[in-house]
Amino acid sequence: MSLKPAGLDAVVVGAGPNGLSAAITLARAGLKVRVIEAHHQPGGGLSSRQWEGFTFDTGSAIHPLGYASPVWQQWPLHAFGLDWVRSPAPYAHLWWDGRALPLPQDLDAAAAVLGPDGARWRALFGPLVAQQGNLLEDTLRPLLRLPRHPLTLARFGVPALLPAPLTASLLFQTAEARALWAGLAAHVNLPMMTPGVGAATLMLGTAAHAGGWPFPRGGAQALADALAEYFRWLGGEIQLDTRVQSRADLPQARAVLVDSSPAVARQLLSRSTPGYDAWLSRFRYGLGAVKVDYALSGPVPWLDPAAAQAATLHIGGSLQQIEQAERGAAQGQLSQQPYLLAAQHTLFDLSRAPQGGHTFWVYAHAPADTGADYADTIEAALERLAPGFRARILHRHVTTPRQLETFSPVFGGGDVNGGRFDLTGLLARPVPTPTPYRTPDPQVYLCSSATPPGGGVHGMCGYHAAQAVLSDFSSQ
Ligand SMILES: Cc1cc2nc3c(=O)[nH]c(=O)nc-3n(C[C@H](O)[C@H](O)[C@H](O)COP(=O)(O)OP(=O)(O)OC[C@H]3O[C@@H](n4cnc5c(N)ncnc54)[C@H](O)[C@@H]3O)c2cc1C
Repeated sequence: MSLKPAGLDAVVVGAGPNGLSAAITLARAGLKVRVIEAHHQPGGGLSSRQWEGFTFDTGSAIHPLGYASPVWQQWPLHAFGLDWVRSPAPYAHLWWDGRALPLPQDLDAAAAVLGPDGARWRALFGPLVAQQGNLLEDTLRPLLRLPRHPLTLARFGVPALLPAPLTASLLFQTAEARALWAGLAAHVNLPMMTPGVGAATLMLGTAAHAGGWPFPRGGAQALADALAEYFRWLGGEIQLDTRVQSRADLPQARAVLVDSSPAVARQLLSRSTPGYDAWLSRFRYGLGAVKVDYALSGPVPWLDPAAAQAATLHIGGSLQQIEQAERGAAQGQLSQQPYLLAAQHTLFDLSRAPQGGHTFWVYAHAPADTGADYADTIEAALERLAPGFRARILHRHVTTPRQLETFSPVFGGGDVNGGRFDLTGLLARPVPTPTPYRTPDPQVYLCSSATPPGGGVHGMCGYHAAQAVLSDFSSQ
């Protein structure tokens, strides 16, 4: 690709959802921006790859916060090919006896499914769904800023701060509602007693009943491509197949935004302070993921056909079973009945597989150095819930936690959230300031999910980092 001569306002290192979001925010403000990406395509954890006509999502599969993202909702991504797909139920919970409970998006319908706990579920999520815009405004940004909607945040804050199993036991009386809560909480790759885990539980639960848990037709790459094409349309440049290792690899620009790990950002600083370095050295990752992508000759033959009503599945049984499996994983004791997060896109999006074929995306939490053989445990668990699953496998691709980290340094130790979601990870990501995107080097900003609001595809880390750049430029 031929690049225009430099004279750039900003360079963004990394074309993940946050790098692209930062780049677009700056380009929309009229700045000249170039994105430099190590891989052959943009997207990072929001990308897909092909095998014999099957489309596998390399990282993220389901995008509740991508759909709800306050900035992406304002951008014309549909004009650049984005089309959201929804399943009848946002997610379903599976027990080890094969039972499946799909939870409807509509809150009244969900309350009816939950029986004695239905009224509690509706009372908890109803106000948050009604106020989702305000809630996201205050939570998808650094929490060390004054809230704009303190009442909504207070309603959110109490269950968000309590340990998830305690909240479940206090709020709900049925094993079903408690298990559903645990299934949401276990998206956070930490033992469920960890304070802070409840925040993601509430956000995801609210999103399910607000806009659902949709995914881009054709693959996660379609969302990354829509962002990239919009950026190019705004005049931006993307340079692919280029890994940045030092400042010398970068063209001249007034600002550098780093969509990578704090460690990579540190290498690109021309100056630092002992205090900043100390915070970076304390930056911690959660559990990694062992991920398996399957190409199948047919749909997954679930014991309970209700499992086919949702694109996202939480497999793991009761609250206690999920809590134990996640605690064991954190202690290096991997369960034969792990908590599995799975996605079955092709039941709702035929474009992702040749006729009759299906894909299945699944991962389990595991320590960073777990090997590919853990995929056999995952597969045995699936075979138990869907006898005949193995016989439908045409192809399987396993990714270990270390391979995820090699794919993008953001996923340190295979942590899909790019840093722990505990209280420190919520408040000091990676430093405890209201604008943690700034670094001691006035030219360099961190914009990955190692900054607030953290992991998940929503682009808000990049957006806020770009706002910091624009604010600094305007005062120069
Ligand atoms: C297995 C898995 C499953 C997930 N599931 C979901 C899900 O279902 N829903 C959801 O919302 N989120 C999910 N996530 C999380 C989500 O993908 C991440 O939170 C998100 O991608 C983070 O975006 P980012 O831009 O900060 O980093 P990344 O997506 O990692 O992007 C960083 C980009 O920068 C590039 N880069 C880094 N360093 C350099 C360098 N030195 N030079 C050049 N390029 C560089 C990388 O190649 C990469 O393309 C999942 C992640 C994984 C790994």
